[in-house]
Amino acid sequence: MQLPDANITTAASPKTVAVVGAGIVGLCTALEAQRNGYRVTLLDRGEPGLGASFGNAGYLATELMDPLSNLKTLRSALPMWLNPHGPLSLPMSHLHRIIPWLLRFICAASPESAAKSRHALQQLNTESISAWKRCLTDIGAREQLVQSGYLLVWETPSKLADAKQHASYMAQFGIKTELVQGERLAQLEPEMADNLSHALFFPDACRVREPYQLCKLLFAAFMSRGGTFIQQEVQAALPQNKGVSVQTPEEIHQFDHAIICTGAWGKQLLKGVGLDVPLEAERGYHLTIDAGNIRLNHPIGSAERRFVMSPLDSGLRVVGMTELGGLNLKPVKRRYASLRHHSRKLLPRLSDPTLPVSEWMGHRPTLPDSLPVIDRHPDHPQLLFAFGNQHLGLTQAAISAELVVGLMTGNNTEISCEPFRVDRF
Ligand SMILES: Cc1cc2nc3c(=O)[nH]c(=O)nc-3n(C[C@H](O)[C@H](O)[C@H](O)COP(=O)(O)OP(=O)(O)OC[C@H]3O[C@@H](n4cnc5c(N)ncnc54)[C@H](O)[C@@H]3O)c2cc1C
Repeated sequence: MQLPDANITTAASPKTVAVVGAGIVGLCTALEAQRNGYRVTLLDRGEPGLGASFGNAGYLATELMDPLSNLKTLRSALPMWLNPHGPLSLPMSHLHRIIPWLLRFICAASPESAAKSRHALQQLNTESISAWKRCLTDIGAREQLVQSGYLLVWETPSKLADAKQHASYMAQFGIKTELVQGERLAQLEPEMADNLSHALFFPDACRVREPYQLCKLLFAAFMSRGGTFIQQEVQAALPQNKGVSVQTPEEIHQFDHAIICTGAWGKQLLKGVGLDVPLEAERGYHLTIDAGNIRLNHPIGSAERRFVMSPLDSGLRVVGMTELGGLNLKPVKRRYASLRHHSRKLLPRLSDPTLPVSEWMGHRPTLPDSLPVIDRHPDHPQLLFAFGNQHLGLTQAAISAELVVGLMTGNNTEISCEPFRVDRF
């Protein structure tokens, strides 16, 4: 994103910024701040890219513009919850903690509120691929973004009308789709066709080659440009008269600015600066299967089973589940069994028990209205925030980075950050 010269800090007096959290959002933000002339220190308690950004499906889901909270979701929530292999779960031990969040989530489903979120998500998603292209071209890793296309599939022939309706809905947003069946479907995905009735093909959809590899490349570019990395837990980021002090167990560091990009873990840091944000961890699971010659040509989403399979450099990744289980519970083993169940139904050759599989669970950072926070502290503009991108954190990372750094430099961006205010709740 181009900045007027006046806003670029000069080489003689580079301003300093701490980016807290080295997930995909923090990594993109750190690089964007460097591009704007800042001296950047990235802090994470672990190695970069090992949070939610490690194990996602690698799919840039720009067509997902409906907020998670809408009347359709509310109507289907109970059957989804009761289905033993269903995509939604609310662990009993966390239920009492999640109730206030659920009430906000239900309120956010009102047609008026959902329409506002949809408009804001549409703005982010529409700009997300161009922002990724700018970021990846800048670091010489453009090949990490692939125009793969995407198939949204149905198994039940009577749901053909659903696909047609969805195609018209997508057309309203200018998203191209093609209804595919029979031979055309077999041509697109020879492994799967026997189990499918029909699909919508999104020819322009993109994915990345491998999400963790992408994090490593972003981090390497950041370090090669003079970035500093401190592997420590950040206990507080407190605004001072001038700048922000960032406290770790070993030291207090001073910066001109700090940007909090701590994914699902931001709540405590925000409480420390007087902000109470209803951020929840939406747990999701994956299997990464070394599937040998069982190949998919595109990321595949199942409209009925609500999970995604994605062909990545690291293997065939099967992802899904929305488990409102907070930050501390252990993964629930039967969710992996459900992912196996669904993937084998669509790709029967995956039933081979000798295929090597790795299992993983991660925390999506989610606010009740499905919008991220991209903002400055209302009283201390030197402290900024970029987190809460829910199921779309990979999709929106590069554009979120441009927007939050735009707020820091005072540069006007084309997208208004008003819907993403930290104090909107
Ligand atoms: C199963 C699954 C599949 C998904 N598939 C997709 C997909 O296909 N496409 C898509 O767009 N999105 C997808 N997502 C969502 C996406 O992965 C997340 O939205 C995104 O990774 C969030 O990135 P982040 O940088 O905000 O958070 P994270 O990657 O979680 O990074 C946050 C970082 O902050 C650090 N941190 C937190 N607190 C502190 C602290 N106090 N001090 C120091 N460090 C701290 C953590 O260690 C972590 O490294 C998926 C998510 C899951 C779980």
